[in-house]
Amino acid sequence: MLYRRLLSLAVVVALLGVGVDAAEAKAAKKPTKVAAASKSSRKGPRSIGAPNAGHLEGAMLLKGSRTLKQKEGSHSWALPELVRLLQRASAKVAKKHKSSVMLVGDLSGRTGGFLERHGSHQSGRDADVGFFVMNSKGKPVNVRHFVAFDGSGKGRELPWAMFDDARNWDLIEALLQDDKATVRYLFVTPPLKARLLAQATRKHARPELIARAAAAMMSPQEDVHDDHVHVRIACPESMRDVCIEEAMPRVGGGDAGPAKGARAAVDTDGAEEKPSEAKPAAEAPPSDGANEAK
Ligand SMILES: [Zn+2]
Repeated sequence: MLYRRLLSLAVVVALLGVGVDAAEAKAAKKPTKVAAASKSSRKGPRSIGAPNAGHLEGAMLLKGSRTLKQKEGSHSWALPELVRLLQRASAKVAKKHKSSVMLVGDLSGRTGGFLERHGSHQSGRDADVGFFVMNSKGKPVNVRHFVAFDGSGKGRELPWAMFDDARNWDLIEALLQDDKATVRYLFVTPPLKARLLAQATRKHARPELIARAAAAMMSPQEDVHDDHVHVRIACPESMRDVCIEEAMPRVGGGDAGPAKGARAAVDTDGAEEKPSEAKPAAEAPPSDGANEAK
């Protein structure tokens, strides 16, 4: 009896061991691939420095497609990882929602560096993506401008506009589940984050995905990102030597720019210190409150 019990215990341990080995082997495989990529991409695209203090080499230009349009006058250069992520995400949403067109705003300048109206967007890892919109009858509409929403999902300035929970969550899901690029942050306002998570629950998204979304979505400051989601990808493994993951702490508000007035056109998102949820928003200079990149 005891022997049998021990035997079955041994089997369980062995099985667990196999599981762990398999996972380890999988994890161990990745770096090899990365190391190879690192050598070959030495002269290729590089994100150098931090999102709010950096620049970009070998950038790729995002172009419009059947499923992706750009806001007029947008800066559309970024790491290929980000450009392709946006292309794939727009295609995925359009696959589920016929004729859906994702609206993309600024990425980075061709060689990165300071970008007007933004604190970050300097190193090719940031992109502003407009929220999907419905009309008052719940019919999806494609828009050419970013539309701001309050927590109830109503357009702040467009009474007919409604936050399209279904498409917006599908976008978040597509971004987070992409198997080639890693999304580090999704900046959205807390009420819209809550809406998106509620939609995920309604759609019975996997708990791991919901947890991941809850961790990735954050708002560096109150009242920002109510008309778009700011997508930041992680430093690609091959660029770890030059790419700085987190935004640099802001020094004296130097590039925080014009501060007076309610919604000064400065994107402060990337100028944050580590955007950890624990960090009180009040730490930011009050002058920057409620600023937004349009
Ligand atoms: Zn942004």
